[in-house]
Order: sequence, then structure tokens, then C-alpha cells
Amino acid sequence: MGVSQGSFGDAELWGNQSPEPHLDAARLTDDLTEPQRQAVTHPGGPLLVVAGAGSGKTRVLTRRVAYLLEVDRVAPWEILAITFTNKAADEMKRRVAELVGSRSERMWVQTFHSACLRLLRANAGVLGFEPGFTIYDSDESRSEVERIMKDLGVDVKVTKPRSVLAMISAAKNAMQSPTAYLEVDADPKREMVAKVYQRYEDSLRRANAMDFDDLLLNAVRMLQKDADVRQRYQRQFRHVLVDEFQDTNGVQNKLVEILAEYHGNICVVGDADQSIYRFRAADVRNILQFAQHHPDTTTVLLEENFRSTQTILDAANAVIDRNESRIPKNLFTQRGRGDKIRRYAGEDEYDEGRWVIAELRRFRNEYNIEWREMAIFYRTNAQSRVLEEQCIRAGVPYRVISGLRFYDRKEVKDVLAYARLLVNPRDDVASRRVINEPRRGVGAVALTKLQSYATDRNISFSEAVRFSEEAGVSGKAGSGVRQFAALLDELRALSNDLPPGEMIQAIARESGILDELLTDGSDEARSRIENLGELASAAAEYESMLEFLERLALSAESDQLDASAGAVSLMTMHVAKGLEFPAVVMTGLEEGMFPHSRALVDQAELEEERRLCYVGITRAMRHLSLTHAWTRTMWGRRMDAITSRFWSEVPEELCEECSVVKPMRRSTFSDTDYGFEGRSSDFTVGRAFGAATPQEARGSGAEQLGLRSGDRIIHDRFGPGTVLSVAGEGERTRAFVRFDEGQSEKQLVLSISPLKRL
Ligand code: ATP
Ligand code: MG
Repeated sequence: MGVSQGSFGDAELWGNQSPEPHLDAARLTDDLTEPQRQAVTHPGGPLLVVAGAGSGKTRVLTRRVAYLLEVDRVAPWEILAITFTNKAADEMKRRVAELVGSRSERMWVQTFHSACLRLLRANAGVLGFEPGFTIYDSDESRSEVERIMKDLGVDVKVTKPRSVLAMISAAKNAMQSPTAYLEVDADPKREMVAKVYQRYEDSLRRANAMDFDDLLLNAVRMLQKDADVRQRYQRQFRHVLVDEFQDTNGVQNKLVEILAEYHGNICVVGDADQSIYRFRAADVRNILQFAQHHPDTTTVLLEENFRSTQTILDAANAVIDRNESRIPKNLFTQRGRGDKIRRYAGEDEYDEGRWVIAELRRFRNEYNIEWREMAIFYRTNAQSRVLEEQCIRAGVPYRVISGLRFYDRKEVKDVLAYARLLVNPRDDVASRRVINEPRRGVGAVALTKLQSYATDRNISFSEAVRFSEEAGVSGKAGSGVRQFAALLDELRALSNDLPPGEMIQAIARESGILDELLTDGSDEARSRIENLGELASAAAEYESMLEFLERLALSAESDQLDASAGAVSLMTMHVAKGLEFPAVVMTGLEEGMFPHSRALVDQAELEEERRLCYVGITRAMRHLSLTHAWTRTMWGRRMDAITSRFWSEVPEELCEECSVVKPMRRSTFSDTDYGFEGRSSDFTVGRAFGAATPQEARGSGAEQLGLRSGDRIIHDRFGPGTVLSVAGEGERTRAFVRFDEGQSEKQLVLSISPLKRL
């Protein structure tokens, strides 16, 4: 992603050197249906394309961009196209480039976050930020909120920092300042949240940092505040186009409105039935009321689905039709009926997983479908573990989209924290993270002293590091802090000369992180060193550290999807939005799982879950299979499950039942019931007990082994492995273990996990 200092001047640069002759309109429209063509060639003014899944909305948007460039001769930098993920943005760029060649290069094809970042980097001063500002990820925001809450004497065991952050985030998305937030309603809890919110804002300011919500919010504020900057962009963007418009929130909608105001050429496409981000403040009214807000809107309906078979489409329609608050749609396809939807109810999640694998093999053997053309969907990330395990056993290549990302590993995060401090010396989260990493004898007391010194003087924590003596940090801690400050100076000097890849190596070396790992010498340490090497290679692909860090900050889950990899994709249905696969298996169709437990008592939540189900089903092009398990281990307990209502909302006549014998519903579970030795002991999150009967889990006592990172253990089912880290206490002690077989990493609740020291 390039960082541009505004885009004017591009016009002169670009001049008349159009590299290729322009295409004619027919080339760009002859393979479209009539309504699609109408949208692509729309002469100007607000345009709304509302249509069901797979009807070519994204294709229309891409084509329209090409058409604007080729036929209407709009300059590339006058087009702003917004997609939901970086991956979708890259795909759009690639498709447009295929059609129009290098003429597409200077277009703004962005996600909301990357567009806002680009606007803010170029104009950070308007709101008083330095151009090198840092972006805090959600973990970092949470840790900052937690620190502030503790500082204010709030009991973080009673009120979870995560929930306070969620409230702050909601306030930001509603464009409420801390004061405005309090004005809405002033109960004691709100007062506390408002206080934390205010302090959090102050600390972000001091650290020259923004969180994810700020990127959007500050971009809007910046445009509202500075009329010159606003008008410059308003005039620049002759056309603004937005995909997946049903999932925009209030701030995003505002941004689009502002940017498109001058030319009025705003084109949005979406499907209200696929609105699935309510929990992130998405507001489906943005699309439902678009035409009301823009009285001269041209609305185009697309009714032909080009993706799926009639059977798959009928199933999707039957499910979504149960939602009361929706406008009925009429989708059809010319792809023929196709195969029936196959359903399998497994004994437990292992049995379910084994059937899924057999199904994938069948797709491959009977239909010649490649691994990379298949996907397994589930509702929550935690469900991937068992499915992964089954893939490993069966030797089926797979990729989990999301999960523990490479950039979330400890050693990687540590080195990146140093890198961030080089770009933004005031990055407080980063300095707190590495001031004692590797160990320099700087403990909690020293940190508190530095923090109160900073708070008293209204400076950032990072700045306070320079005044350890004045802050009363002496002795070993004092020299540790001075060492840290000197190290940063040294690294900063190096960073003037070294490109990002070499700089990452220099940080690992000079900080002592590398030495520490070398001294350790364990397999684990060696793999951590390899990770740092990998990080250096990744950084080497960028011109500047700032650019590298930005790309990391904005990389979203589905960005990891790489179609060239010959592997089955495992992902949640949220991540699957906008994608399509020839063969799909949807797993875990159980009440309380999917629909999620909260949806069992809340109609609006249930409708949202049903839309998610609609999204899942409509990803499938030719083959769709649905599965569930009769019992499942949740929170270390084996529980009975009830078949999801979505399962039965798919009409019987569309389905082929594959369960050998329909298992009887049972109320108890015994270890030897089904093929698998040993007790399940997985720590799985994501479901309340609402719809199930919890069975008491028996303890294994492994929490008393006193495990530490680096220890070798053996697990009854997963075999030997190495402990990566241990967290929690007593019965809740959990260990992160990397098992030798397949190098899979698992989190185990020790009190019930059948494992021993090796
Ligand atoms: P979603 O709602 O899932 O985002 P969508 O409406 O954006 O779907 P696309 O992804 O654009 O739909 O299109 C679905 C599939 O149909 C794609 O493979 C696309 O190439 C194909 N397609 C769309 N329009 C046509 C057409 N006129 N002729 C042939 N194929 C088409
Ligand atoms: Mg689409």
C-alpha cells in the first residue's frame, strides 16, 4: 500500500501518456445481463444496486470502474472504490488491470480503514497528530483500557476491560465524545466508562496513536474540520463506489457522504440479507434508506444468480425467508438443479470431523474438485481445532483463515514494538511492552513511577522513560531504564541508514532478544528465531518501516486467503463473506452454537444469525454439505446438543441424509462410546450452556504439575509436545502446547487434560 501525500499533482505527472488505447463500451458490457449493463453504464448521480448473493454485484462494481476509466475517460485517481477487505481490494485491482492494463494503477481501491489511513497520513496535522502516528490493535487498546481502569481503582475482575472497550467503541462509532456519551444517560456505570473513555483518549493523544475506530472517526473529523482539505478530496473523487454497503456503520456512511458530496456520483452495492456485522455497529439502514437520502437515486435490481445451483439457491431462500424483517427477493439461476445437499449428524465432533474429511475426498475423487476449491465453515474460531486435527490425521492440506496469526506471536510482537518506537517515539503501548524485554530489571514498581511521572506532567510514558531519575526510579531498575533509552537512541541512529528488512535484524540483535533465544537453544527457541527471520524477509519487501507497519496493522483475517495454495480453506462464516467455492461444508449446526446462544433469546440476534446462515449457504457453487454433532465438548465439558433450527429450515426434499443410523439422543456420555480413546479435554470457547446438559468433567490433576514454558509433556490423545506458555490459576490453569505431530498448537485446561510430564 503506497502512502501518498495527497493526490493532486498526479494529473500533471500522468499527463497524456496513456499507455494503451481505450477499450470500447461493447468489450466491457457484452457478457453482462441487461440490468448489470444498466448499472455499469449508468451516466452519473446516485446509483444503488441491491441484489441477492451471487448476482454479480461485485462484478458490476469492478466492471463499472473499468468502464469509467475506458469509456468515460475518468482519470484513475478520480476514482475511489471501497471494498470490505484488503483481499477484495487486491482482487478488484487485479480484475480491473486485466481489463484496462496499467491505466488502473493510480486508482484508490481501498478498504475503509486503508482509505482513512491514507487521508490521515497526508493530513495528520489538521487534528494535531504527527504523521508517523501508530495504530493500536484491539489487544493493545484493551491493555491500555485495563491499565486506566486499574489506575482509576475499578475492579477489572468485576467489570471486564473488554466490555468497557466495547462500550467506548460503540460511542466512537456513534460519533460521541466522552462528554456527549455521558449526556445520553448518566448512571454510575456510564460515568465510569466516560471517565475511562476520556483518559483513554488523552493517552492515545499523548502516544501519538489511534485505535481502529479512530481511523474512521478521525478521518471524518479531519474532513469536517478543514474545509480546504475537504474540498480538495471532494473535487478529486469524481466517483465513489462501495461494495458490501449493507455492512457499513454510521461513520463509514458519513465518510462516503462527505467525499461524494461535490460530484454526487456515489454508487453503492449490497444485499440487506447479508448484513452480518451488527456487533461492529453496522447499520443496515444505510442501504435501506439510501434512496430516501438521495432522492435522485437510480435503483437497479439483479435477480439472476450466476454462482450456485438451483438446489443451493432454494435452500438459501427457504432459510432467509423465515426472517420477518426483510423485503422478499426473487432469485433464480440457469445453472440447473445440481446435486442434493448432503446432511450428516455425527456422534460427536470427532465423528463429524471424520465425515467432513471423507466428504472432501469424495469431492476430489468424484468431481475432480481441487483442495483449494473447497471450504469448511464454522461459527466460532474455536471450532477449527478438531477439524484441523482431522485434516492433519488424514493428510489433507488445509489453511485456517484467521486463528493465531503469525504477527501475533510473542517474539514477533516484541521486535515489532521496537520498530514502532522508531517510527513513533511516543508509542506508549510499544514502550511498555519492551521496556523490560529482554529483562533489564524494570519491574511493576518502576513502571508505576514512570507512569505517574508522565501523568503529572502530561507527557507520554515513552517520554517519561528519559527521566527515570526524576521519576524516582533508581538502582537496578534505574539502570535498566537508562539502558533501554540508550538502546532506542542507538536503534534510531541505525534506522537512518538501514532498510526495513535489515532494521528488523538489527533490532533482534541489538536489543538482546536474539541472544536470549540463542542461549536458550531449545527447539522452541529455534523456531522463534526462524520466525524473526521470516519477519525480516517480510519487512524486506517494503520501502519504509512505516509502510510495513501499516500493512500489518490493516491486515484482516481473510487477507490470508491465497487461492494459489493447494489447500482446503477453514474459516468462520463471517470471514467467508463475498467469497465463493465450488464445494462447501458447513459444520456445527447446533442450537446454541449456530444460531449462537445469545440468539436463542433475542429475535434481532436470531435474524442476524439467519443472515449469516444465508451468507454461508450462498458461498457454495456446486456442492454443499451440512453437519452437526450430537455431543460436543465445550469448556472442557461434554454436552448434548440439539440440531440447529437452520438444519430443518432447509426443505427435506432438497437434502440427502448421510447419517448411517440416526443416533438416538442420549443424556449421558461415556468415554468409550465412540471409537476414540481418552477423554476430550479441549478448551473451547463460544457457547453458553443454554441448550445443553452439562456433564461433570473429571479432573486429571495436571494443573498441579507446575508446568512452565519449555517443559516437555505427553497427552493421551495428541502425543508428545512442548509447553509454550501457561496462564491462569488453579482449576482454570491453561497451557498452550505445541504438539510434535504436525506442529499443531493447542490450548488445554490442565485440570481436566489427560497429560503427564515426559
Ligand atoms: P455476494 O453477494 O456473495 O457478494 P455478488 O453479488 O457480489 O455476490 P459476484 O461475486 O460478483 O456476486 O458474482 C458471483 C459469480 O457470478 C462470480 O463468479 C461472477 O464472475 C459470476 N457472474 C456474475 N455476473 C455474471 C454474468 N453476467 N455472466 C457470467 N457470470 C457472471
Ligand atoms: Mg460481492
